[in-house]
Amino acid sequence: MRTDAFIGLGSNLQEPAAQLARAVAELAALPETTLVSQSPFYASRPVGPQDQPDYINGAVWLSTGLDPHILLNQLQAIEQAHGRERLRRWGPRTLDLDMLVFGDCVLDDDRLTVPHRELPNRDFALQPLLDLKPDLRLPDGTTIASLRAQCPDNRLRKLPPPDYP
Ligand code: ATP
Ligand code: CA
Ligand code: CA
Repeated sequence: MRTDAFIGLGSNLQEPAAQLARAVAELAALPETTLVSQSPFYASRPVGPQDQPDYINGAVWLSTGLDPHILLNQLQAIEQAHGRERLRRWGPRTLDLDMLVFGDCVLDDDRLTVPHRELPNRDFALQPLLDLKPDLRLPDGTTIASLRAQCPDNRLRKLPPPDYP
């Protein structure tokens, strides 16, 4: 069985747009997985500590036969391959891959909360989802569009086409 999975990407170190572009290719190459589409990239202010560079964010729509925990393992392996180090909470990073939505799956265990807990508060995650699928809904029926309309504004800036592949 195939599931539509939506992954948020973020980076604010070591050529963030290039980190994201590479990560999109790596996600597209995962086993039992195809890339349906990728969003534009956005610049956004950091969550948490403000003494770090702005982030570049985007999202991809995958169709996958992997189960959510196996997909999370794969996301974390890609983060590691990008040299991610966990130094402090919400600190700067070369690559962050968050599972935003996994089909109609609702999960909350030690490793994985899906839909992503902070999604309603993050325009840099909601906007790329809207770009990918304007009628996307959470499993409880809430539209991403309504969440986007209510979300605090974090001065998201869409990057011009030369900055994303
Ligand atoms: P935030 O979760 O607020 O975006 P973060 O991305 O900086 O913060 P990380 O350090 O990347 O947090 O991840 C911490 C843990 O979150 C991971 O080890 C992972 O097990 C867990 N986690 C729970 N739900 C998810 C999810 N939907 N996608 C990715 N990781 C998740
Ligand atoms: Ca995150
Ligand atoms: Ca994360």
